[in-house]
Amino acid sequence: MDDPTLCCLARGGYCNRCDLIIGVDGLHVTAAERDARGRLVVTVESEPAVMGCPSCGVLARGHGRDEVELVDAPVFGAPVRIRWRKRRWVCPDLGCPVGSFTEQDESVAAPRAKLTTRACRWAIEQIRREHASVNGVRRQLGTSWSTVWSSIKPILAAAADDESRFEGVSILGVDEHVWHHVSTKPVQDGGRGPKELTGMVDLTRDEHGKVHARLLDLVPGRSGETYRAWLTERGEAFRAGVEIATLDPFHGYKNAIDDQLEDARSVLDAFHVVKVRHEALCVRMEVRDLHRLVVAAAGLKLRAA
Ligand SMILES: [Zn+2]
Ligand SMILES: [Zn+2]
Repeated sequence: MDDPTLCCLARGGYCNRCDLIIGVDGLHVTAAERDARGRLVVTVESEPAVMGCPSCGVLARGHGRDEVELVDAPVFGAPVRIRWRKRRWVCPDLGCPVGSFTEQDESVAAPRAKLTTRACRWAIEQIRREHASVNGVRRQLGTSWSTVWSSIKPILAAAADDESRFEGVSILGVDEHVWHHVSTKPVQDGGRGPKELTGMVDLTRDEHGKVHARLLDLVPGRSGETYRAWLTERGEAFRAGVEIATLDPFHGYKNAIDDQLEDARSVLDAFHVVKVRHEALCVRMEVRDLHRLVVAAAGLKLRAA
């Protein structure tokens, strides 16, 4: 790092300053340029290494490179492309089913991915925390809507299937959102899908008493029945953990809370509002964020349909 002769001048070696700027573990920068569209294009490769065949373990022979171009997260105000010169190898054992294979590193990019792993993470964070749309993300990445969406959709779907997000919820928020006033036909039939959606949000405080509103789920419909069915589906352990249930002033939700969360205090219940007034006010102030979160997620979910 401290040797000035190292920066891109050392022949045969890699430049650790350039590597530091690009920050991809295990890969080294071999070239960087700006293309005609103003994108930063960085060529990277792994260090030469001995490789065994993934099937039979026999020492593999180098067999040139496969160059893949990946969309990375933007830096310095410009979209970025990573050109990864992947090493290709062949297994010399004629009886081995593998034949030839290329290097893979899922921490850089999943096989056949168009976006790097960190670009996927960046895109999801933009949508989740910065209220960005898929279109806004695609503009910053300098790519198409469908490239962004097809890259992040499986990650979001896997997250939606992961039930561990329901653990440890003690303050539960619910918010209904009327998404549109047009046709409720399915998206593929030219409609815009369900008109009303109910979002459930975790408003549990952290050890410092702060709430980080976290969307737990989004289901079609706006009724006590919708919320009741959702609470039933969560199971006994989840319901027992909920101490406070906050809600938007729609009486159907209140009935669901009374039915399903016997021990939880509903913050709109007059008696309990007095009892937990301070807590209720704090929670309700933070609920303003809840609505925005639900709206952003609704946009994603309907596009996925
Ligand atoms: Zn350098
Ligand atoms: Zn082999």
